[in-house]
Amino acid sequence: MDLQAILDGIAQDAAQQADRGHVASYIPELACIDPGHFGIAVALPNGQIHAAGDATTPFSIQSISKVFTLSLALGRIGDGLWSRVGREPSGSRFNSIVQLEAEHGRPRNPFINAGALVVTDALMAGREPKTVLTETLTTLHSLCGHDQIFMNAAVATSEKQTGHTNRALAEFMKAHGNLNSPVDLVTDTYFHHCAIEMTCRDLAKAALAFVGAPGCPQLISPTRIRRLNALMLTCGHYDASGDFAFRVGFPGKSGVGGGIMAVIPGRAAVAVWSPGLNAVGNSKLGTEALEQLVQATGWSVFG
Ligand code: GLN
Repeated sequence: MDLQAILDGIAQDAAQQADRGHVASYIPELACIDPGHFGIAVALPNGQIHAAGDATTPFSIQSISKVFTLSLALGRIGDGLWSRVGREPSGSRFNSIVQLEAEHGRPRNPFINAGALVVTDALMAGREPKTVLTETLTTLHSLCGHDQIFMNAAVATSEKQTGHTNRALAEFMKAHGNLNSPVDLVTDTYFHHCAIEMTCRDLAKAALAFVGAPGCPQLISPTRIRRLNALMLTCGHYDASGDFAFRVGFPGKSGVGGGIMAVIPGRAAVAVWSPGLNAVGNSKLGTEALEQLVQATGWSVFG
């Protein structure tokens, strides 16, 4: 299989697409990103990386950061975390408050915003936000083999200024005793880890941590890798997770910056970036590119 030719073909197709979705505008700093970008990278357990398009341009990873913070929180706290957050697909928008009320402040899963705020709070437990953010960045640096991965302070500030819904979610969980640190500290830490910027090449390389093949980083136990992949498959695309499983068929996590990190267990890690989103808030061309990739490679977990 000529992976490089497959990626080149996908990038060429993406370049010609007129309907690219809409760039997230509720975080003003993200609204100025050019929707014309498209990048894709595949990292293999043997260390090879194949890439096409804008694969070396850093973009805001946003909710993709939730997979890394969840891994770190599980590493620190273990399965006790599941008493505070569920493991079921939400079927609701990523920032829905209705469901949280019906379920008494225990978020459905760690990838919707409410769930990720609980994970960030758990990761903070008695520590300064700076310590948590440094730990998150350092983990990414070590997975990527360099330290040129940063948080974009302007994006974090921009989200802080407009992040009323996330604060509402956090306040609501505080009222239900499911948030320990002060709301502003938790939301601030969350906005900052969402504002981490990575390139497709680096994100694919970092995602090898979830591939679980010989040659991949062994930061996470095989059991936990399986569970993280199950969560990405069932909850990684919010209320379009079922559609993503149907169309693409491997675990993935999207972010409103237009990135998708995907894992083909035992085989490869993929990162794709196209800033225009579909109606659910997932990268439009990114999803289509992964659909093309699975058609060309047969890399579905469903056979
Ligand atoms: N920081 C974003 C938010 O909280 C992340 C959402 C996303 O990427 N889906 O709204």
